[in-house]
Amino acid sequence: MIAVAIDGPAGAGKSTIARQAAKTVGFLYVDTGALYRTVGLHMLRSGISPDDRQAVPAELDSGRVKIGMQFQDGEQYVLLNGENVTELIRTPEVSKASSQVSAIPQVRDFLFSLQQDLAREHNVIMDGRDIGTVVLPDAKVKIFLTASVQERAKRRCQQLREKGIFADLGEVSREIEERDYQDSHRAVAPLKAAADAIWMDTSDMTLQEAIEAVTRIVKQASGAE
Ligand code: C5P
Repeated sequence: MIAVAIDGPAGAGKSTIARQAAKTVGFLYVDTGALYRTVGLHMLRSGISPDDRQAVPAELDSGRVKIGMQFQDGEQYVLLNGENVTELIRTPEVSKASSQVSAIPQVRDFLFSLQQDLAREHNVIMDGRDIGTVVLPDAKVKIFLTASVQERAKRRCQQLREKGIFADLGEVSREIEERDYQDSHRAVAPLKAAADAIWMDTSDMTLQEAIEAVTRIVKQASGAE
């Protein structure tokens, strides 16, 4: 099996780029952020503060949180106790909660084998924050995708608006900066590029250019080109 790890900060275009590249090369696209978002959503719904380092692990231990993933026509669906929450996890509130729960080691452990199993069973392009460093350290290709905060905020606003969610650019910028800080300063699996990752700054690239660049790298590495 071939694994491609794509890591980088929020809003760098990872999911759009990885999804398209995966479609072209016929790999399974796995968005691991959706898993942390689902844990965050569950905690919010249960009235548990997402940064409560006692209550969050206790809730996971209780067996009340079952997370599943399904794939259909290249699209990923996330299930929380059987309910399809794929759309519900995309709100700014859940974004913040996901970043908070992701700093708790037991949450990372809870989601670890689910991610590794997928890479064992399929050729994958997996995106996240710690895929090249922790989840799939032996990935054949590692790409670290980034872009300026301004550019990332612009893209995220656009994405949310397309889904009918109103988003203020200043607010989204602040939210992105806050998440960047949290994600890169946490004690466990902080956001950082693997030593052997290929860096790609997409600030001045069109989406199409970025997709083509990533697809080219994946094809070369998998021997398809
Ligand atoms: O990628 P996305 O923005 O959907 O991820 C939501 C949050 O989940 C991130 O801000 C990060 O805190 C966390 N995350 C993580 N490790 C991953 C993927 C996401 O900690 N592999």
